[in-house]
Amino acid sequence: MAKRTTAARSRKKARGRARKYVYFFGGGKAEGDRTMRDLLGGKGAGLAEMTNAGLPVPPGFTITTEVCNIYYERKGRIPPEIDKEIAANLARLERMAGATLGSPENPLLVSVRSGAKFSMPGMMDTILNLGLNDEAVEGLKRRTSNGRFAFDSYRRFIQMFGNVVLEIPKESFEHEFEAVKAARGAKQDTELDEHALREVVERYKEVVERRTGRPFPQDPHVQLTMARDAVFRSWMNPRAREYRRIYGIPDTIGTAVNVQMMVFGNTGDRSATGVGFTRNPATGKKEFYGEFLINAQGEDVVAGIRTPQPIQELERVMPAAYRQLRTITTRLEKHYKDVQDFEFTIQDERLYMLQTRSGKRTGYAAVVIATDMVAERLISPKEAIQLVDPEALNQLLAPGFDPDEWKRIPTVTRGLPASPGAASGQVVFSADAAVQWASEGKQVVLVRRETVPDDIHGMFVSQGILTATGGMTSHAAVVGRQMGKPSVVGAGELEIDEAAGELRVNGHTVKEGEFISFDGLTGEVKIARVASRPSEILQVLSGALEPSQSDIYQRFERLLSWADKYRRLGIRANADLPDQAELAYAFGARGIGLCRTEHMFFGEGRIPIVQRMILAETEAERRQALDELLPLQREDFYGVFKAMRGSPVTIRTIDPPLHEFLPKREELLVEIARMEALGQEGEELERKRRLLGRVEQLHEFNPMLGHRGVRLGITYPEITEMQTRAIIEAACRLSREGVKVVPEIMIPLVGEVKELRDQKAVVQRVAEETMAAQGVRVKYLVGTMIEVPRGAVTANEIAGEAEFFSFGTNDLTQLTFGFSRDDVGKFLRVYQEKKILEKDPFASIDVEGVGALVRIGVERGRSARPDLKVGVCGEHGGDPASIHFFEQAGLDYVSASPYRVPVARLAAAQAALSVKVGD
Ligand code: PEP
Ligand code: MG
Repeated sequence: MAKRTTAARSRKKARGRARKYVYFFGGGKAEGDRTMRDLLGGKGAGLAEMTNAGLPVPPGFTITTEVCNIYYERKGRIPPEIDKEIAANLARLERMAGATLGSPENPLLVSVRSGAKFSMPGMMDTILNLGLNDEAVEGLKRRTSNGRFAFDSYRRFIQMFGNVVLEIPKESFEHEFEAVKAARGAKQDTELDEHALREVVERYKEVVERRTGRPFPQDPHVQLTMARDAVFRSWMNPRAREYRRIYGIPDTIGTAVNVQMMVFGNTGDRSATGVGFTRNPATGKKEFYGEFLINAQGEDVVAGIRTPQPIQELERVMPAAYRQLRTITTRLEKHYKDVQDFEFTIQDERLYMLQTRSGKRTGYAAVVIATDMVAERLISPKEAIQLVDPEALNQLLAPGFDPDEWKRIPTVTRGLPASPGAASGQVVFSADAAVQWASEGKQVVLVRRETVPDDIHGMFVSQGILTATGGMTSHAAVVGRQMGKPSVVGAGELEIDEAAGELRVNGHTVKEGEFISFDGLTGEVKIARVASRPSEILQVLSGALEPSQSDIYQRFERLLSWADKYRRLGIRANADLPDQAELAYAFGARGIGLCRTEHMFFGEGRIPIVQRMILAETEAERRQALDELLPLQREDFYGVFKAMRGSPVTIRTIDPPLHEFLPKREELLVEIARMEALGQEGEELERKRRLLGRVEQLHEFNPMLGHRGVRLGITYPEITEMQTRAIIEAACRLSREGVKVVPEIMIPLVGEVKELRDQKAVVQRVAEETMAAQGVRVKYLVGTMIEVPRGAVTANEIAGEAEFFSFGTNDLTQLTFGFSRDDVGKFLRVYQEKKILEKDPFASIDVEGVGALVRIGVERGRSARPDLKVGVCGEHGGDPASIHFFEQAGLDYVSASPYRVPVARLAAAQAALSVKVGD
């Protein structure tokens, strides 16, 4: 009984808690905290945390992400109890602020901002100065004794509200604004006095009435409700959806709405507003970094309308506020153990913190910051690992320009170095053109006056982004850094004439389609096509540079060596040739998870031999061709084994349908017709005709479901024999040279245990014969790929024969979904747009479907053979989200392409750590 009562009480409490839709913050205390990002969004959780930490944060409240979902579920209607809760929090805010929304004496003004769990720069909308109306503006004027400020705030509010909530194009307002400016001969916005701004306000109200058929809403409570709903609506706008699609953020998480008391950076010259980072987000350097504007509001800094001043200048003009800002932000960095990206406002020399969050940074900066913070004892190596997005390491491997060549080309202009990396490509002036050209296989550089969130699809496909206006925190800079795209912004000398399809700079004209290059680390822009060269890290790995000559290499290595300490999963590489294996080893792979032997068949001079093998009409003929292939394969295997210095090497027997090695039917037909027309009878024509006959014989309707994989080895055992002999001979040779190797011979596409049994018998027989002939014994394993659903389901039987499993998640995905690997591109985008699939299942594992088969395979396989070694060698082996899943599924290793080995090492460590923490 007592138990039931307790349970009922806790259920009630849980329900009670679930019913809380609004969280207050202010006066040194907040109802939420940093752990509540799901519910409060990143911004809301940050405001709560800062408030609790005693920082000067203007009070306010957060309407939770749950309300966003309710808004959509109920088709835009918010239930009255939530409205009531909002009203109660508003009343509390009014009490704390000592001001009332809409009051003609002492009006409270608020900002309304969106804030999802993940920050989505420029994606969502913000409204400032809400609460102003014809009466309140007079109250604001009286209270501040500043009529200009009051009316400037009002006109900004109408413009923002008109645009964001009422969906009136910005130009309609700008047009009126420019008209008033022109009539008064004003060049700068700041030259308009109160009188002029009153006129702007009147004109803006007329715009609203004309456009919507209704007057501008004067009731601040109505304004608030409308603004709240507009934030919810903006969650589903096309830009936001596109952004989420690119970054794999689900639509269902919703956005919170933050309502916060306004403070003003535009009350005069003792006020300012700015943004900054505790460290340089492009280079990672430990320097206080940011920009501010005197007498301005937030959007002026980001929009690039006025060019902001570097934050160091603040020390000169407002030393006390600057010192306080430094102290606070240093504390914030220590508190959050990460670089902070903050927004602040100074109202009459009093500092307010408006936002803090983890700063987005380039891959380069991420590694520098993480290693610096460990050196500063701010974080532990374990925390450093979790601070770096594995994909960031990929950016570090991106190419740069050859410094000598780069130096020789004259610099035509410079901009701000917003995101490092070398970009070279054909100029395009719009995001749509970028997408179009890129789809034609061209490399493009997107050149814009400034970028807007609508440009995101174009930015995504460009080599780099170059803008004429904006600062280091402008849209182009922030998004460029996040995407790891080289970006140069604010190159003010660029004159971009989109209509004419050209840009002019210092006497040069560059037309659309002509080449331009820039360096995102220095900001230099050049009119030329410039080849890039390998990253510093690759130069060290290839021996062109000493490790001691490269600071970033040393940091990269340090970080990855920490990762190695914490990861459980082994890291192997998919490599087919000795030089790939060398690179993979240098990147830290300790083993080959997949050597696709057929890739060796494409080596120089080999294809004719392979074709002879395929065309052979008798076994004897086929064996002759195979005998020629044997030494070539043996040489490759020897090289791959050697490169791995004793680490395991998994070699797969032939897998693809044979017609892949033959010329295309259509090409042969044309060739034969041409020869016949020219009367070229003879041996060559005969050969071509025979080839055509065999190509036609080998033609399959569904080659991926046809005569491939283990089916080839079963029908042509002599291929498996030759490959086994080559593998064992290479291993014996190394063994004689004192190098230990344990080859793992892997049979592909097995779905029925008898298939494996058949091939295993061939392998074992030939291996024994070969070792006897060589007079050396080597240990080797025989295993299989699990890439056919039946193989996963009958894994217990298969494990009776297989000494190891490797999940071929490429084929397993293909066969589980029934999506052809080669044709999925035709419909995948639509699937993603319609949210039928969030992610490309060939890039990131489908946990529920394909993942379930992996779990079944592991479980059943190990039930029959407890020490079964299990890995994965599909593309998913290099994808961080998939690696997280493989950690949970208890695999022994992942195998990734050589360039993704560093990513996999770090992701495996993160997976091990997060799984331990209670996933
Ligand atoms: C797989 O199917 O996942 C695999 C690794 O093999 P392949 O990509 O060569 O078919
Ligand atoms: Mg496969």
